Amino acid sequence: MATPFRARAAALIAPLLLGACTTLPAISSAIAPPPAGIVSAADPRAEAAGEAMLAQGGSATDAAIAIMLALTVVEPQSSGIGGGGFFVHGDERGTVETLDGRETAPAAASPQWLSGPDGSPLRFDQAVHTGLSVGVPGNIALAAEAHRRHGKLPWAVLFEPAIALARDGFAMNQRLRASLVANAGFATNDPVARRVFTGPDGQPQAVGSIIRQPELAATFERLAAGGPSAFYRGAEATALAERVRAATPGGNGMTAADIAGYRARERAPVCGTYRRHRICGMGPPSSGGIAVLQMLGQLERFELGALGPQSPQFWHLFLESQRLAYADRELYIGDPDFVSVPVAGLLDPAYLARRSALIDPARRSPVSAGRPTGAPLAALGTHGEEQGTSHFSVLDSAGRAVSYTSTIESAFGSSLMHGGFYLNNELTDFSFVAARDGRPVANRVEDGKRPRSSMAPMLVYDPQGRLLMIIGAAGGGTIPVQIARSIIGVVDFGLSAEQALALPLVMEVGSTIMIEQGSAPAAALSQLEALGHGNFAVRAAPVKANILLRTPGGWVSAREPRMAASLGTTP
Ligand code: GLU
Repeated sequence: MATPFRARAAALIAPLLLGACTTLPAISSAIAPPPAGIVSAADPRAEAAGEAMLAQGGSATDAAIAIMLALTVVEPQSSGIGGGGFFVHGDERGTVETLDGRETAPAAASPQWLSGPDGSPLRFDQAVHTGLSVGVPGNIALAAEAHRRHGKLPWAVLFEPAIALARDGFAMNQRLRASLVANAGFATNDPVARRVFTGPDGQPQAVGSIIRQPELAATFERLAAGGPSAFYRGAEATALAERVRAATPGGNGMTAADIAGYRARERAPVCGTYRRHRICGMGPPSSGGIAVLQMLGQLERFELGALGPQSPQFWHLFLESQRLAYADRELYIGDPDFVSVPVAGLLDPAYLARRSALIDPARRSPVSAGRPTGAPLAALGTHGEEQGTSHFSVLDSAGRAVSYTSTIESAFGSSLMHGGFYLNNELTDFSFVAARDGRPVANRVEDGKRPRSSMAPMLVYDPQGRLLMIIGAAGGGTIPVQIARSIIGVVDFGLSAEQALALPLVMEVGSTIMIEQGSAPAAALSQLEALGHGNFAVRAAPVKANILLRTPGGWVSAREPRMAASLGTTP
């Protein structure tokens, strides 16, 4: 369902080359102001669901919820109603509101939840595909709360596109098929997944095959008619709890009471300024908004615009700022209902100036804080493609913006299914180690607690106070870096939305510096080496971001350019 108001650069823009590229791709996607609104999501079928809501006079919130539901169908590997998310709402007056739909640990979970019988931490692979990893899903409660505050269309209408996609089917694209193949060991272990996604030979269905999901359509129909209580109460909640408990070693897992007790929570947004732009996002339990604001705040004293996106000197400064921000996040950030997170202190301009003073433009500096084992950054692993999360942005004709990141954590989440959808493995975002040197880890497991996240749905207001960018990303620990680099791309380098998304990812991961494949010629690596960096891991980067950007010609919708080729549905 193509709509006239969405335009996108047709060509895939190759990642900008560090030190190699002198001219930037032309801006080809300026558009007239959208009459109904504009959306950006990882999959065009999900975008169409959002556009259908806007076309019926729905609000940005209505459209965002319809997108979240549609992504459950067409991008089941990444996000859905079996997971959680963060919702950031803003308007042209600058009022920003944030809702937390992060999953919670069941009452049975103690700080030893992710430890073996001998007390030592489990490995990620020992927990991920069991009930130990599944948190109480938050997306339906989040959607209901967002709809209560900002919805215009009836709740049931929001489900219509997702029900049609699930019942009538959608064409398998290359991304989903590749994901099913890459995760063959578990993606279709569930009998429903096998029936839906594989053919008679047990292999994932071919690209272009029509995938129908009757169980999921029936679940949506129940939710459309019954509201969130059809998820969190009664027989539905009992059946969901039973599904999770049956897959939990020892059987002492999620209960119907855990599910009934779930609430989406309003949180105070985190906001800061960067070169007179006001930037707001999600606070704890996400570390994402704080990390983005810290990185930018620490970089503000440098003339990044003069250095430009291809300069190894720029990447050095950015790396140093990342290292400082990530050191803080490892130590301080967890669920604010359980640990006291010094949000104001972490974002205090005087503190950021002191942290920034630690950045030596000529040399990599030691960074002081440690990283608890099992934290998302350490667990980032070696996968090249982001599969476990999806971000979408919506702007409606009344100037209301929604920035919503939705996740089931890893590709296909826990791989357990219920009601035709995948259940998350969000609890592996907790630290697997509960205490260190006798001190409790902020992000340890606790009963009812929400695991720390990296997700960073954000809104950027320009110096005149107008909405400028609605942005977010998937990619676990890389998310804050993706967001910061895209904001720098637009604000400092004057890039288009697509160009900003195409900037290469350069980031410290564990003890290596991840350099996105194809982005850094040898000369750039030796310059980074001369500045004290080393241990480079050149590989595909797990990036996947979406932007809505105001331009002089109108609002532009851009999605991750690296994904463009894999969205095809022709065999
Ligand atoms: N579960 C992760 C988080 O909340 C996101 C996963 C991903 O993007 O891969 O930070």
